[in-house]
Amino acid sequence: MREQVSNLFNDFVALLFPECCLGCQELLARGETTICTDCRIHLPYTNSHIPANGADFEWLRRFYNKVPVKHALAYLYFARSGRVQQLLHELKYRGHEQIGEVLGNWFGADLKEQDYQQQFDLIIPVPLHRRKLRKRGYNQSDSFARGLGQALNIPWQANALQRLTDSATQTKKSRLERWENVEQIFKITDVDQIKNQRILVVDDVMTTGATLEACAVVLLAAGAQSVSVATIAAA
Ligand SMILES: [Zn+2]
Repeated sequence: MREQVSNLFNDFVALLFPECCLGCQELLARGETTICTDCRIHLPYTNSHIPANGADFEWLRRFYNKVPVKHALAYLYFARSGRVQQLLHELKYRGHEQIGEVLGNWFGADLKEQDYQQQFDLIIPVPLHRRKLRKRGYNQSDSFARGLGQALNIPWQANALQRLTDSATQTKKSRLERWENVEQIFKITDVDQIKNQRILVVDDVMTTGATLEACAVVLLAAGAQSVSVATIAAA
C-alpha cells in the first residue's frame, strides 16, 4: 500500500515537474532516467574498445614516445555542439553527477563484453586540485570511475592521486617543462596501493592527453605494473 502511494506520488511529481533528458532536453518517457533512449541510440560511439576496429590505436597514438600506456579507450567522440557536449556540460557545471555513473555503467558493460575486466586491478579518476574541488563540490571523473567500477566489478579509489597544482598553470608550460614538473603536478598518496597494480586512469575528456600522460608517468614511477586510460569522450 505504502509503495503504491509512493508510486502514485512519484507519478504526480513527474506530471508537475517533468524530467528532461540531459543530452537533448526532450521530456523523458516513463521508465527513462537521465538520458533518453533516442540519445542512447544516437550518441557518437567510438567503438574503439572492439579489437576488430583497430582497437584503441587512435587514442594510444597520443602517448607514443611519451609514456607506455597499455590501453587508451574513449567512449564517445567529442564535438563542440550536440549531445556529448551537452552531457559533459551538465556533468561538469550543472551538478548532474549521475551522468558520469550512467555512462560509466554503459561503457563498462561494453568493455566487459570484450573481457576488459581481466585487464585492470584498480580504477583511479584524475583528481581535481582541492581549490577547484571545493568550488565545484565534486569531481566529475569520480562518478564515471564509480560507474565503470560497478559494471566491471573492479575497485576504484578517488584519493589515490592528489593534484598539487591547478591545470591553468600547467597548460601554460611547454610539454617538456610539464614533463619535468610531473611530480609537482600529481602525487601518489599511498605507494603500496599502486605497486604492481594494473591501473585504469579515467577522466571526462581526452584532448592532447597531457593530463593523463602526467598521471601515467607518476603511477609508473611508483611501481604500477601497467597504466591504461579511459575517458567519456575524446576530441
Ligand atoms: Zn535525449
